[in-house]
Amino acid sequence: MGCDMDNRLTKGLVQIYTGTGKGKTTAALGLAFRAIGHDFHVCFIQFLKGSSYCGELFTSQRLKPYIDFYQFGIGCPHSALIRSGHMKCTKCGYCFKEKTREQALIGYKFSQDILAEGKYDLVVLDEINNALRLGLLTMEEVLALVKNKPEHMELVLTGRGLPPELLDVADLVSEITAVKHPFENGIESRRGIEY
Ligand code: ATP
Ligand code: MG
Repeated sequence: MGCDMDNRLTKGLVQIYTGTGKGKTTAALGLAFRAIGHDFHVCFIQFLKGSSYCGELFTSQRLKPYIDFYQFGIGCPHSALIRSGHMKCTKCGYCFKEKTREQALIGYKFSQDILAEGKYDLVVLDEINNALRLGLLTMEEVLALVKNKPEHMELVLTGRGLPPELLDVADLVSEITAVKHPFENGIESRRGIEY
């Protein structure tokens, strides 16, 4: 049920994970983990993020050829040390600098190609809501991506600040509310948990 003879979804839907609480990107990663168990092919595209110390980047290398992971943000100059646990993120802001439309557009055009190619069963556009919220992508551009989704493909958009226009085109919207977070009690980002 729900899959054709080639093990593809007969009808892929559009999902959005939004809200102020932790768990949007990890929900999308959890979905990828589940989908790969059924031999689905996943493309995970991150807008605004380029920190090469994220655990999910290394996990996806282990899960090849089922998942391809692409980042379209600025990298961290201390990635190697943070990954090995010898240094913590100092919130220097380097990876937050230069969030330009040019950069977002590179990710956008790449996403367009991925959707047009239709090779994947699940495509995640991680943090794309934030690219929209920051004015790096336009609503027309994001709506065009959703509209051009191939029938068999499940498409997931994540990021804070869901615009109402996207609510209309989504089949599933989950809003994660921040009720309590260890950052409020001075507990810093932890390797393997936050990244
Ligand atoms: P995660 O990647 O852990 O699923 P997320 O995608 O929901 O988090 P983002 O808005 O992308 O959250 O935030 C990026 C980083 O900020 C992550 O390291 C995440 O754990 C952390 N974070 C998420 N929500 C909060 C919060 N309410 N307070 C503090 N930090 C948060
Ligand atoms: Mg996220």
